[in-house]
Amino acid sequence: MKIQLLGTSAAPTWPDVFNRGNDYCYKIKEWKGKNIRSRSQTIINDEHVIDFGLDTFYHSVKFNINFANIRDIFITHSHVDHFNKEQLGFIDQVCFGRSFKYPYITLYGNEEVIKQSKLYRRSEEDLKLVEVHAYEPVVCEDGFKWTPIPANHIPNENALNYIIEHNGKTLLYKVDSGPYTDPKLWDFLSKFKFDCIITEGTFNFRKTPFAGHEIYDTILDMKKRLIEMGCIEDKTPFWLTHIHYFEGGLSHEEAEEITSKDNIHIGYDGAVINI
Ligand SMILES: [Zn+2]
Ligand SMILES: [Zn+2]
Repeated sequence: MKIQLLGTSAAPTWPDVFNRGNDYCYKIKEWKGKNIRSRSQTIINDEHVIDFGLDTFYHSVKFNINFANIRDIFITHSHVDHFNKEQLGFIDQVCFGRSFKYPYITLYGNEEVIKQSKLYRRSEEDLKLVEVHAYEPVVCEDGFKWTPIPANHIPNENALNYIIEHNGKTLLYKVDSGPYTDPKLWDFLSKFKFDCIITEGTFNFRKTPFAGHEIYDTILDMKKRLIEMGCIEDKTPFWLTHIHYFEGGLSHEEAEEITSKDNIHIGYDGAVINI
């Protein structure tokens, strides 16, 4: 399984278009390399896309990705950094004289995402919509199995994370969720052996928890618990994404010096993870 992180920031980008000198980022003098982050999006095996937010255009240009070749899109929730509903109006082969690799693109999402998609899509033939629910897996035609699980993010919507399985490899993809607290979910996770964990690290080195997102201390708790349950080993690839500015204005490189001691990688735009 080839996983490419296309965007690794939280909703504000790095740098934030409104502020390049605030408390969070003042230390970074030159915005370049891994210190430029766009909004969250990931592509697997060049065909399965997770989230379709505001920076999809930027990712298509930056990483030379032709979205006409994708098979499907899995949306985590309706926040605009993950789901740019207006962009759905351009998924149309006839109107724009295009030809997709597959007859149509399928978009999977929760009730809210599907409701909004119905309002904004242009072509029912070219964009199929499938509502998904936690603990009810879907299997794609190429054998990819996607199991939605409940994120701990917002009270008014069933935000989702995904367990993705293919060819004997298993990935846990967790963005926009605070720590998992539901015993049912932990019991469910205990049945898996993961080959890679990708989790949000939104508020990273802050010491005070922030509702609906992770800080580094709670990420360490999660890793420890997964190891204790036998779901992962310490050396299992473990990556952070969806990152707000690092506390104290650290650069990517400075932050990774800290996390590497815990065998945790910090994602960056364009990173490829093969498992
Ligand atoms: Zn987000
Ligand atoms: Zn969100």
